[in-house]
Amino acid sequence: MKSIVVINCGSSSVKLDVFDDVVGENPWSGAVERVGTPQAMLKATHGETRSEKALPDADHAKAIAALLGMVNDAGFDVTAVGHRVVHGGTRFADSVVINADVVAAVEACVPLAPLHNPPNLKGIAAAQAALPSVPQVAVFDTAFHQSIPEAAWRYAIPKALADEHGLRRFGFHGTSHRYVTTRAAAFFARPVESLKLVTLHLGNGCSACAVDGGRSVDTSMGMTPLEGLVMGTRSGDVDPAIVLRLARDLGVDEAERVLNKASGLLGLSGTSQDMRDLVAAAEAGDADAAIAIKVFAHRAKKVIGAFAVVMGGLDAVVFTGGIGENSAHVRGEIAAGLRAVGALLHERKNKAPSSAERDLSTMDSRARLLVIPTDEERAIAQDVRRLITTEIAPSTGAPATP
Ligand code: ADP
Repeated sequence: MKSIVVINCGSSSVKLDVFDDVVGENPWSGAVERVGTPQAMLKATHGETRSEKALPDADHAKAIAALLGMVNDAGFDVTAVGHRVVHGGTRFADSVVINADVVAAVEACVPLAPLHNPPNLKGIAAAQAALPSVPQVAVFDTAFHQSIPEAAWRYAIPKALADEHGLRRFGFHGTSHRYVTTRAAAFFARPVESLKLVTLHLGNGCSACAVDGGRSVDTSMGMTPLEGLVMGTRSGDVDPAIVLRLARDLGVDEAERVLNKASGLLGLSGTSQDMRDLVAAAEAGDADAAIAIKVFAHRAKKVIGAFAVVMGGLDAVVFTGGIGENSAHVRGEIAAGLRAVGALLHERKNKAPSSAERDLSTMDSRARLLVIPTDEERAIAQDVRRLITTEIAPSTGAPATP
């Protein structure tokens, strides 16, 4: 079966998904966890069949070769590969067919995402080595936010310093914000150009995006994913003076660790970064868990209000990510204050368990409250299909003549 493969290469894991060539079904999914350690393990799901294989000390290249070998053995004929790439800087406002120039540009963005772009590059190199004649596409987490106007991406620090060091808002989770935007327009059966949305990606990392007419016009994450909403272990927004104080008192490295790894829901609760644990603990009377959820919801609510004003209106708030899709409790806390922007939550619809795309607002709610499960792998596969259809002559793998 002709298929499109999507590769998501992290620092210690590789995830690989197979879609059919029209991006309908996703029949095969596999991952190697703990890459580069003696415990590296490949796990795959093909329809109803699950398999596991130890791959001791496998690096990214070996992990990808093993995953692609299984995909080949299962009878999939890979016609194109899509790669998740975290940072495309200001160079990429859309996905792109990979060539040497694109690889060099992704390398040039390593200082902007030192933990993420290097494994992404390893994934590209490994897939190119395993499938040399198959076109490869890069899909960037930052690309969707390149439409943000300067008034929203500039920080109020000395302009010359900002320009010299490239200090500006980039925004992340763009593939997810773009995917749920497209799905929301389909849900309403309205052109995306007519919609003003606030999309809330609430997972371990959390970000909000103001999407006006299908374009990102502001987002809560900044130069790095540390800015903005409260996250699992990241602080999100704090007074910059706190950063300076921590750096002075604890040292820069420890301050960085505290803000990235020991803050957010974990730091507030003192017990867990996992929203499921916190909701259970709060319901059992844990005051710190309860305030962690309140702070989380308060900050999300504040951003929704700000973004509604930035766009001059609000048609819908879209909840997505593990928390946004699954936690009625957190959605309830966030939506409790949204009357001011015309959004009213239907309590019973909010609490009904479902994994479908759904509208949780009351009949008379002017702005709608949607849950749209995100699917970044599918969004990447759809971009691959779009680009190989428009830019590559499928029979030769060569660029199409204009
Ligand atoms: P990632 O950002 O790593 O992709 P996810 O989108 O899977 O993460 O989100 C993980 C978060 O979603 C965790 O805080 C987890 O507790 C939360 N979550 C998942 N399911 C539920 C649920 N049923 N109720 C509350 N929170 C949930």
